[in-house]
Amino acid sequence: MGLVSSPLFVVLFSMSVLLISMAYNLSLGYEQDFASEFTNGSTWHNVAGNVQCRPKAFHQPSTEAELISIVKSYPHVKVVGAAHSFSPLATVPEDGALVNLDRYNAFLKVEVLPDGSKVAIVQAGIRIYQLDAALAARGLAISTRGAISRQSLAGVLSTATHGSSLQHGCVSSLVTRMRLIDGKGGVMEVDASHYPDVFNAARVGLGVIGIISTVTLQVEDEFYLYRDEHGVPVEDVLVAGEQLAREKDYFFWYWVPLTGIAKTFTWTRVPKEQMPGGVWYLVQRFFQATAIRAEAAFAAVFANNPGYIYSFYGVAGHRANVSNVLVGESSHIMEVNTLPDLKFDVEYYVPVARCKEVFDAFRGNFTVDLAKHHNIVGVFTVRYVKGDDIWMSPFYKTDTCAFDVFSSKGDGHKPEFLEFVHTLFSKFNASSHPGKMNHLDPEV
Ligand SMILES: Cc1cc2nc3c(=O)[nH]c(=O)nc-3n(C[C@H](O)[C@H](O)[C@H](O)COP(=O)(O)OP(=O)(O)OC[C@H]3O[C@@H](n4cnc5c(N)ncnc54)[C@H](O)[C@@H]3O)c2cc1C
Repeated sequence: MGLVSSPLFVVLFSMSVLLISMAYNLSLGYEQDFASEFTNGSTWHNVAGNVQCRPKAFHQPSTEAELISIVKSYPHVKVVGAAHSFSPLATVPEDGALVNLDRYNAFLKVEVLPDGSKVAIVQAGIRIYQLDAALAARGLAISTRGAISRQSLAGVLSTATHGSSLQHGCVSSLVTRMRLIDGKGGVMEVDASHYPDVFNAARVGLGVIGIISTVTLQVEDEFYLYRDEHGVPVEDVLVAGEQLAREKDYFFWYWVPLTGIAKTFTWTRVPKEQMPGGVWYLVQRFFQATAIRAEAAFAAVFANNPGYIYSFYGVAGHRANVSNVLVGESSHIMEVNTLPDLKFDVEYYVPVARCKEVFDAFRGNFTVDLAKHHNIVGVFTVRYVKGDDIWMSPFYKTDTCAFDVFSSKGDGHKPEFLEFVHTLFSKFNASSHPGKMNHLDPEV
């Protein structure tokens, strides 16, 4: 029982992370001001800073006509959303133009279909948080999402961004129609009946199946969720994880490296009446929403000292054992809009039946290798995604287990660590997240 295991240390640690969290939130990362940061001739970079290109021109059109005219003016055009992808998907050659649709982001309308279901029609540059707000104003919501909401809808769709549940596919599975601009500036409306092949390709288009102009996606009535967080032995969640992901509305867990502890997050739908009110509830919401960001930010402070890292994981294990519950709007309580400035993020996918086998291999190797990569700071997250029928989706016809390894600071982004993780997952024939660091061959 060392210093880091003492209750006093845990309390001091918790207080520190909250202070760091508040400071961090004042300087929220993960935003790029496209218009002021990039002018013709300058070098563009993604938010993590690991991908760059030097296009001939930058444009921020606000109408489809402008967008078409840009497409007709350059040999190469790519759109960049929030620039959150760690892979070079949005880069363009030097004679090309890089386009951002932050000014082409309107919520157009809601349509009620003959069966009573509803769809929303939006311009492709809309950010997820803007979509949430526009839907909430109409008493509506989307049924699945990734961990944060700063990203653009088109960016999310293009990379098969997902949440965690075997009841829901990736966000692209909500799309019922798209309006695309092809390489010559022509416009196509595509859905399951009109150009179904193009529709199947463009729903996860990796930025190369035309430019998405507008999107029609399924929405539902706004709903409320009860979120339950627990620390459990990792062996337990390895046994029960798949079933929980099938039964619960949403479910994921993370492993605290070097410990036997997993933190599980479960979301269950509840009636709106269960939403508490009051100041204490608001305080709770703020601190719970920032806890992960705060912990990682705190860890980053100590990232370069292996001794501290071992201590950090010890404390993180203690904190993971703390249970929390909270009720909130689905758009708020499903996101973890609290992640620090990630420098390294890889995500590998295997069929859900292989989850335990792959986790065991990773755990063993990572623990041995940590001595070499001592300043990797992060947790090891396991999520679940329902299979779909979208051609370039990593979840094509496969219920999937997603292993996410991320780091906010340190050497995590160095090629050796990427290679280490890649070699490990390659043994299992794992595919990877196209928007995160990966070994995908752009020519294939
Ligand atoms: C902090 C953080 C948290 C994350 N959490 C998750 C998560 O929970 N789940 C998950 O699956 N992923 C997650 N990701 C990955 C992220 O969702 C994807 O990388 C996503 O693509 C980012 O959206 P973006 O708007 O930044 O797109 P960008 O990175 O800007 O672009 C991605 C691709 O979309 C294309 N694109 C953008 N707009 C258009 C358009 N109008 N027409 C055609 N192509 C277009 C681009 O050309 C590019 O190919 C996370 C990433 C970060 C940094």
